[in-house]
Amino acid sequence: MRKEINLIIKPNYHNLYKERKFPLVFEKGVENTWKLQEEGSIINLIDGEDSFVGRGYYGNQNKGIGWILTYKEKEKIDGKFFQKKLITSLNKRKDFYYKEDTTCFRVFNSIGDGIGGLTIDYYEDYYLFNWYSKGIYSFKDEIYDKFKNLVYYKGIYQKKRFDDKGKYIEEDDFVMGERGKFPITVKENNVKISVDLNDGPMVGFFLDQRETRRALMEKYAEGKTILNTFSYTGIFSVFSALGNSKSTVSVDLANRSLEKTLQQFKLNDMDLEKNKIIVEDIFEYFEYAEKKELKYDLIILDPPSFAKSKNYIFKADKNYKDIIKKSIKILKERGLILASTNLEKMDMDKFISQIKEGVEEEGKRFKIIEKFRLPEDFKINDKYPEGNYLKIIMFKILN
Ligand code: SAH
Repeated sequence: MRKEINLIIKPNYHNLYKERKFPLVFEKGVENTWKLQEEGSIINLIDGEDSFVGRGYYGNQNKGIGWILTYKEKEKIDGKFFQKKLITSLNKRKDFYYKEDTTCFRVFNSIGDGIGGLTIDYYEDYYLFNWYSKGIYSFKDEIYDKFKNLVYYKGIYQKKRFDDKGKYIEEDDFVMGERGKFPITVKENNVKISVDLNDGPMVGFFLDQRETRRALMEKYAEGKTILNTFSYTGIFSVFSALGNSKSTVSVDLANRSLEKTLQQFKLNDMDLEKNKIIVEDIFEYFEYAEKKELKYDLIILDPPSFAKSKNYIFKADKNYKDIIKKSIKILKERGLILASTNLEKMDMDKFISQIKEGVEEEGKRFKIIEKFRLPEDFKINDKYPEGNYLKIIMFKILN
């Protein structure tokens, strides 16, 4: 039997949980934390008067110590509960399953679909489960059991993202069905993307940037010289090239990015003369490009929230404006910058003010052309707006 524990909400958190029905449990929001022993235990949040507030599970993530999954006292957290959530989420993705030009999307988006700590992605007949705590992983048998009867699949894979620091646990990620012959090719808006579900924490690209990639291909890339920084497997360059860019340069620090980027480029018959791949620290590249007086029409900035390289430490909440400034130095007159961040604690306003600071310190002005947020399959829970983590701004630099 699963343990049940009653956690008493601290008085100054009553509003958050009782009125606002916030789904994430904070350790500092409850009194008797000594009760938190076994991840996967059922948590009943109660107020000081012993009355029921909400029910969820104990599972440590960097954000909090668990998720409230229901505010109904009678609702149990069991196979039936999970089945209901899965059916609802699958129904909401019906249109995605019918699309022929896009064969990869998010099927289940954590608390946005009612179960914090779990995401499920679809890659042409293969599914990938991401488990973000030991607690949610302890429900895996109930969840897989219901899921496998709801969809057709060739194979299911998983990533356990809950070692000590919330990192990925390296192991064979295959779960059930038949093994894929990776890399497999999926499509996004008819562009081919190479994906490997069993090769470390990352699969080859990020589903959440779909709308940005589409806009780049359809509206922005044509005729432009493009610098793609923090390029990973070069997917932004692929969409640029297919949108008839004049040239692209993809820069990433990781040695493996070269081979992975080449793979994506070849899959899409890209011209390797016009589309260069450079393995280098982007901060070194910025210096080099400035010295050589290189100038780009469009620069793509999609850094991780935190990055440490030999001579630089980058923290998105503090240093974003630095990469804006460095970009402006190697941007043509009236050039474009596509800036992206997935840092939850930096909201759109804070992001824009960093951009503004950077631009003004370079003695320029800017005009926002377009903003992007998460695509439709990345559902957001209106009680947890922080889940709307992705902020992307396309802006033009003016004198
Ligand atoms: N823009 C990519 C995703 C970027 S993931 C896409 O759309 O698919 C972050 C990448 O930044 C990783 O590939 C990592 O190797 C790279 N990176 C981290 N620090 C870097 C640095 N100092 N210079 C260049 N690349 C860096």
